[in-house]
Amino acid sequence: MHELAVTESILEIATTHASQAQATRVTDIYLVIGKLSSIIDDSIQFYWDMISQGTLCEGATLHFERIPARLSCQDCGSEYTLDRELEPCPQCSSSRVRVLTGEEFHLDSIEIIKD
Ligand SMILES: [Zn+2]
Repeated sequence: MHELAVTESILEIATTHASQAQATRVTDIYLVIGKLSSIIDDSIQFYWDMISQGTLCEGATLHFERIPARLSCQDCGSEYTLDRELEPCPQCSSSRVRVLTGEEFHLDSIEIIKD
């Protein structure tokens, strides 16, 4: 899994923003993960607790928001939202579908404390 690399980049972005804002501490980190992303929340949390030690982000709470996936059928052109795993087109049962959103992963916002 690539969770460690992902977590390192979250930490880097959060730390950069926090020091630019002259924060003394980061309290909360809001992450957005697409439903189809292979990222596992628990792994991120695990690495986070490990690598954030001694940084401005130490002790910050991670919040994960899973956003639904949108797919588009290549055969009939209909678009639909996925609740769980990949499913064929509900209109025509085609499996020639394209993922519009749902694989993304990004840092949405952070909350900081200043003295
Ligand atoms: Zn279709």
